[in-house]
Amino acid sequence: MKTIGVIGGMSWESSAEYYRLLNRHAKARLGGHHNARSLMLTVDFASIEEDQRAGAWERLGERMADAAQRLERGGADIVLLATNTMHRVYETVEASIRIPFLHIADPTGEALRTAGIERVGLLGTRYTMEQTFYAGRLRDRFGLDTLVPDDATRHDVHRIIYDELCHGVIDAQSRQIYQRAIDTMAARGAQAVILGCTEITLLIKQEDTSLQVFDTTALHAQRAVDWAIQNR
Ligand code: GLU
Repeated sequence: MKTIGVIGGMSWESSAEYYRLLNRHAKARLGGHHNARSLMLTVDFASIEEDQRAGAWERLGERMADAAQRLERGGADIVLLATNTMHRVYETVEASIRIPFLHIADPTGEALRTAGIERVGLLGTRYTMEQTFYAGRLRDRFGLDTLVPDDATRHDVHRIIYDELCHGVIDAQSRQIYQRAIDTMAARGAQAVILGCTEITLLIKQEDTSLQVFDTTALHAQRAVDWAIQNR
């Protein structure tokens, strides 16, 4: 099995989930005492989050590239960036390493196409919902039409990620805000919803909504393990 390199810490709450999912999926695929071979490089989120707010994307790109190179030097065979938002700078990361980079939107886009979805709601940070780097890739590579909540709801969705989920706070009222956001997008024609932030899976499960849920954390981790097993 190949070794999966994960750039984690954005936030560590979701990185812990990645770690569990990588190992669980490897065990489900291979049985016995198998788990995933992996390395995780955890960055300190405080300064990352500050740079995001400052719009310092170029510096963030360099910092992510540095993390990816450290993973490569440490023996990783593939790199995962365990956050949707930081895929804003994935090109810098991908160009900085010789090993493959697994873009988080790709397993998600493929799963949506396989399910026959054409119009999908997207929940994530403001950066992910409002900038073009995420919905653009889903459109260009998978022909998907993406909907996002209105401005006030995007504000709440973003706030809940940074003020609650990244601190491990799971709140029932916040879950209702997300449920209403999903219902409103469904009424506007969304056939499914992307949990486009790696912490949302801590708050929203499939049973919390009638729309089909596409969880980027789970899909990303599973695809990495499938790749690691296939290319062993
Ligand atoms: N983990 C989150 C994401 O998937 C947000 C934290 C971050 O800004 O990286 O977008």
